[in-house]
Amino acid sequence: MKSASLFLALCLASQPLLASELPDLGDVSQGAFSPHDEARVGTKIMREIYAEPAYYDDPELTDYLNNLGYRLVAASPENRLSFQFFVLRDRTLNAFALPGGFIGVHTGLIEATQNESELAGVLGHEIAHVTQHHLARMIENQNQGIIPSLGALAVALLAARSNPQVATAAIATVQATSIQKQLNFSRDNEREADRIGIQIMSNAGFDPRAMATFFERLQKNSRLYENNAPAYLQTHPLTSERIADMQNRLVSLPVKQVADSLEFQLLRAKLLASEGSPEAAVKRFSEAIRATRYNNLAAERYGLVVALLRARQFERADQELNRLNQSGARSPIIAMLGARIKQEAGDIEAALTRYQAGRERFPGYRPLLYADANALLQAGKAEAALALVTDHLALYPDDYRLYELQSRAYAMLGKDFLRHHAQAEAYVRQGNLDAAIEQLKLGLKSHDGDFYQMSIAEARLKELMTLNKPDKP
Ligand SMILES: [Zn+2]
Repeated sequence: MKSASLFLALCLASQPLLASELPDLGDVSQGAFSPHDEARVGTKIMREIYAEPAYYDDPELTDYLNNLGYRLVAASPENRLSFQFFVLRDRTLNAFALPGGFIGVHTGLIEATQNESELAGVLGHEIAHVTQHHLARMIENQNQGIIPSLGALAVALLAARSNPQVATAAIATVQATSIQKQLNFSRDNEREADRIGIQIMSNAGFDPRAMATFFERLQKNSRLYENNAPAYLQTHPLTSERIADMQNRLVSLPVKQVADSLEFQLLRAKLLASEGSPEAAVKRFSEAIRATRYNNLAAERYGLVVALLRARQFERADQELNRLNQSGARSPIIAMLGARIKQEAGDIEAALTRYQAGRERFPGYRPLLYADANALLQAGKAEAALALVTDHLALYPDDYRLYELQSRAYAMLGKDFLRHHAQAEAYVRQGNLDAAIEQLKLGLKSHDGDFYQMSIAEARLKELMTLNKPDKP
């Protein structure tokens, strides 16, 4: 989160803003449900989400979504907030904003978008709910100023984001149930999120018409999606009036043709290639290529390689990858896939060579770094993995994935104290202070740290325990 706000501050400097043009529905910073409360509830919910099986810990997709998200945030009227974008592996069409700037997107929604501007439209709309503090306002207004406990609020929001109908039954406390019933955005909230979302998209260089196109398709197809569409439509009520409103706003904007990024095309193909049986996926992509039925050949071929990898056809996967490379398509995501073919085929040395070549070609692309360190651990080269990760921790001190890898390397080297300490730092960066405290205590019991290390860990433990005071009622 720290690096996120730093990134924002950097973007701010060069971004012309239109904050002055935007009417505000009221200053929430003075309200009873403060931005600090929002951040606390959001972090609490994220703790649960990190532990869910649906949490899709895919560094490539997360990296892409955060880059796209920050490009939009930088073009938004309120860009001092920090944001974090994450993915849930779920075929339902949904995206949601949590208090504190956490924005989740289901894989089903990414698959359903027909171009990058449509995805940007959904994110722009969610970002606007956050910048306008709609959740905080909703909570303040509907409870006549009585703010429910942060814990109950976290439970209600967590349940509401997945399936609003099932949620009510699943919520244990009466208070959470009564909150949950009120968690749908109002029409005014929706209209404001559309208006600001369109502005954000336009400022960030996307085609703002795509927002209306996507929502319109969602509404038209809501019957076809059966159980898949309602989650989004229930939390963001979509009316013909809302779509007409959107279209009126769009009339005054210039028509823009915006090409999708290669990254968007590749990652969408990756998700589609991961659906259904491996054989069916291979067939689908092969046939699309043969019939020249695609928007982007590189993405289609990439999808085919992903499908072949799932079907464990390593030789053919490598042949298709060669074709992809020869076509001139250039992306760290393709380099990653090339190394993964070798890794999954069991040729770890060849995989390591490809990861290293990829990192040299695309320095700064962290998903390659994680994958390389992971492969080094798999090859039993814990010292090399540790050196790689520790070097990069100096550059990215807020990266929980690097701390996790560091902890695994220490574990392989039999260094118990350091292993627990690194794992504690990973948990801190995921907002899980209870687990971090637990790890530090385990580390202090392990007796293999030196005096200096132990005193640092003791000080850190005290600090975390102070931070981890219970929520106000
Ligand atoms: Zn909405």
